[in-house]
Amino acid sequence: MPGIYFHIPFCKKRCHYCDFVSYVVNDEEIDLYFNVLEKEMVIQAGQSHIRNIRFDSIYIGGGTPSLVPARFLCSLLDRVFELFYMEKCPRLEVSMECNPDSLNLEMLLALKGKGLNRVSLGAQSMNERELEILGRVHGTSQILSAVQYIKRAGIENFGMDIIYAIPGQDENTLAQGLERLIALSPAHLSCYELCLEKGTSLEARVARGEIEYPPQETRLALTRTVEDVMALYGYQQYEISNFSKPGFECRHNCGYWMGVEYLGLGCSACSFLADKRMRNEPDLKRYMDSLDKGELPVSATEELAPEERFREGVVMALRMNQGISTEEFYNKYGIDVLEYYGGLIPDMIEKGLLKFHEDGSRLALTRTGRYISNYVLSYFV
Ligand code: SF4
Repeated sequence: MPGIYFHIPFCKKRCHYCDFVSYVVNDEEIDLYFNVLEKEMVIQAGQSHIRNIRFDSIYIGGGTPSLVPARFLCSLLDRVFELFYMEKCPRLEVSMECNPDSLNLEMLLALKGKGLNRVSLGAQSMNERELEILGRVHGTSQILSAVQYIKRAGIENFGMDIIYAIPGQDENTLAQGLERLIALSPAHLSCYELCLEKGTSLEARVARGEIEYPPQETRLALTRTVEDVMALYGYQQYEISNFSKPGFECRHNCGYWMGVEYLGLGCSACSFLADKRMRNEPDLKRYMDSLDKGELPVSATEELAPEERFREGVVMALRMNQGISTEEFYNKYGIDVLEYYGGLIPDMIEKGLLKFHEDGSRLALTRTGRYISNYVLSYFV
């Protein structure tokens, strides 16, 4: 079912590896931002297509949403339930991304009272040296305190984000770090390989030779370590970078991979509605100015032809370990996956990059296929 995403683009300071849209701002700007975000919600909720959508997930991401005073986030949740048709059932998932240094028990209890039932904690590493290389503003003790707050607030469905392939990391240090995080009993772990994004200070340090980015062979060994440790502790891999205890998959993110519609609100947020992909203005000032004038802050729109939607659907669904059901795809898009891609699929199966699940019903990446997923998926775009 469709989900609503809110982008809260504020951070204490920029992490060394980050190229997301985020700003270091003051309290006054936060106040103004939530004001215009409410205007955007009102305009969007009034659109005829959106009025008919039943949403079953809300995801507050960023930036660092937990940096914002709880009262803003509480009113945001109040308004979303007033304005949109939210599925009123235990399935409703309300997630928020939090950073360890800006989380407290009062905030969690207040938000839980407004429907928050899932927390994703940006832990990234349990090693002080690695946190410093990443330029995180928190240490490991703050990760431990944040997890205690989440547990005391009674939020069972909590996950953590982890970054691996950090300069200096090897399979042993990675496995030890993962085990320390797993000992905190998260229901979900997202493990991302560190990427050197253009223009980041980490990229510049690597270019100057101050630190060494692990070579491809090492990165591959570290990816294997992640998968092995997760499997050892009973976490099921359900997407290339995502692992969970059974039943704790992130429903909101599964919607993206399964080609479900979503509404994105906030500076730089993306939406996929009625076969159109739209991106909001990434410049904070221009985003706020548009809404002050009563206009939607959309900066780019792309209308997808049916065949493009199909191909995009295949690429996204192959990211998930459950893969794609050729029958479901035929029913949804009227295109036969095997016929459409001709010899490509048998060729990928032959090379050990794709496989059919045992019952023959679903096509998925193999373990090797996942390691070079960008290469494999580029053939299906
Ligand atoms: S907290 Fe997240 S969004 Fe903010 S700078 Fe760090 S990585 Fe980027």
